[in-house]
Amino acid sequence: MTMTRRGLLSTMASLGGAGAAYETLVLFDFLKPPPTMAAGLSLPSDAGTGRTVAILGAGVGGLCAAYELDRAGYDVTILEASNRTGGRNLTLRRGDVLKEMHTPAQVCQFDEGLYLNVGPGRIAHHHVHVIDYCRQFGVTLQPYIFTSRANRVHTGHVGNGRTWQMRQAVHDLQGHIAEMLSKCVSTQGIDLPLTKTDVEKFQDLLMNFGGLTRSVQSGTTSYSYENQTGRGGFERSHGVGNKPLVPLSPLKLDEILRSDLWNDFIFRDTEIMWQASLLEPAGGMDHFVKAFARQSLARRNGTIDALVRLNAKVTAIEVGNDRVTVAYDDGGATRTLAADYCISTIPMPVFKNLKTNLSAGYMNAARNLPVEASGKVGWQAERFWETRDQIYGGISWTTDTIRQIWYPSWGFLGQKGMLTGAYMYGKTAEAFNARPVEERLHIAREQGERLHEGFGKYVEHGIAIGWDRMEHFGFAWADETDPAFGDNAELLATPQGRFHQAGDQITFWSGWQEGAIISAWEAVKSIDRQSNPTAKRG
Ligand SMILES: Cc1cc2nc3c(=O)[nH]c(=O)nc-3n(C[C@H](O)[C@H](O)[C@H](O)COP(=O)(O)OP(=O)(O)OC[C@H]3O[C@@H](n4cnc5c(N)ncnc54)[C@H](O)[C@@H]3O)c2cc1C
Repeated sequence: MTMTRRGLLSTMASLGGAGAAYETLVLFDFLKPPPTMAAGLSLPSDAGTGRTVAILGAGVGGLCAAYELDRAGYDVTILEASNRTGGRNLTLRRGDVLKEMHTPAQVCQFDEGLYLNVGPGRIAHHHVHVIDYCRQFGVTLQPYIFTSRANRVHTGHVGNGRTWQMRQAVHDLQGHIAEMLSKCVSTQGIDLPLTKTDVEKFQDLLMNFGGLTRSVQSGTTSYSYENQTGRGGFERSHGVGNKPLVPLSPLKLDEILRSDLWNDFIFRDTEIMWQASLLEPAGGMDHFVKAFARQSLARRNGTIDALVRLNAKVTAIEVGNDRVTVAYDDGGATRTLAADYCISTIPMPVFKNLKTNLSAGYMNAARNLPVEASGKVGWQAERFWETRDQIYGGISWTTDTIRQIWYPSWGFLGQKGMLTGAYMYGKTAEAFNARPVEERLHIAREQGERLHEGFGKYVEHGIAIGWDRMEHFGFAWADETDPAFGDNAELLATPQGRFHQAGDQITFWSGWQEGAIISAWEAVKSIDRQSNPTAKRG
């Protein structure tokens, strides 16, 4: 039977409400984003007439700056060291070659139509600059599911290790906390900033919050957590007739405490970066960066990517009073590019080693900016997580090296899908990425077993990326949580005459494309102030 669009939508709406219908529309690409809204700096189209800008690096930050400067009348050239645009925004598909420094090349073997975001994978709903550009450029966004209560959490801190469903860990903990609080507030003589009526309300709140069971004995009401409704998981689902759901016995509080899972994993979705809703471009994150590259030039035929010189590796920067001169390697030949202004987005582990005439203090800030490694492993697999474990998107967490397994938020009920089979940061990532690819895949396969029995026999075509081992990067992002970050980033973000720095690495949205864009805007605005000192901008 062929299902019509209307039929599909009403089925989805009856199954999952308006949200499900909307997601279906997006997934099937029926819903086109509305036309242009807020994105763009709106500088006058002749603001930069007769002025030139050299942009170093063709990632999100460099391409965004180029797009905005081109629209404002500047003549832009982008020098990009690698043979592609996009920078850390990287999506792998069948046939793509992944080459780390000192590691043999890996060729992506995924089936046609499958892809893996090995750099950015999601967009926060409050990353308005990224989302506005998606709206403006017609990049279709779909929901990225960060968490599902069917996801799993594994801890090596209890006994020989335990794997629970997210719903057990979250709701059993919540239930125990509610029960304890309930006992506290009903203790006679305790000093509470609440009236008797408010205490009753509070008890009701705790009952809802924790899924508590109320019992009355000899006129005294008490509340306990028994997972009566099954929110913490069930042994058997509802059946026909007199066969209600059989809930699981709650986990013990001391076991949950010792698991350490509350220390990070199970509350991650409360962090501002990961609060629902999250989004992702349908078809791969690189659709976002490619959208910049394919925008038409404002004043001549061609697109933004025509401004990019690929395989042009910058080696030196000289900032003068009236121009910036950049030396770059072009297939063994040294060439120079002189421009009125320059914006560098070159990752700091590379930038800090360039020959420049910038002040010693500035180059020290580049050397002292704390940075972090990150590693990912990707797998193609039969969708065992859906058929066996009822997992549709989200992330499972583990205290093991691999840290996370991501399930795809798209392609539900298909035969195969993509898993991010490891994603870790910092020292753990450095040590993991230093291993040969085969060892990384072996570890990821073994540790995947602790989250899903039989994991190893389902997964295929593994691929591993260590961002600290990628040429032209040498890191995943700057570490904005390090106390040394702020002062160094502040200096690096300060224009040095005609030289400007951009990139997520100098923002507190480090590790997020939003940071690349807001810093590109700052650099563009600064160039505009320098070239039009008397102009008043709204
Ligand atoms: C593993 C990982 C996960 C991430 N997850 C997310 C996420 O979920 N959501 C999100 O929004 N963001 C995420 N990010 C961050 C996101 O990738 C970055 O914010 C963004 O891509 C940075 O863009 P950029 O232009 O600042 O820098 P880059 O993309 O690093 O661009 C710099 C460019 O400079 C080039 N270059 C280097 N050396 C030279 C040289 N000598 N000469 C000329 N060019 C040079 C590089 O080749 C590169 O193209 C993630 C990043 C990583 C690594």
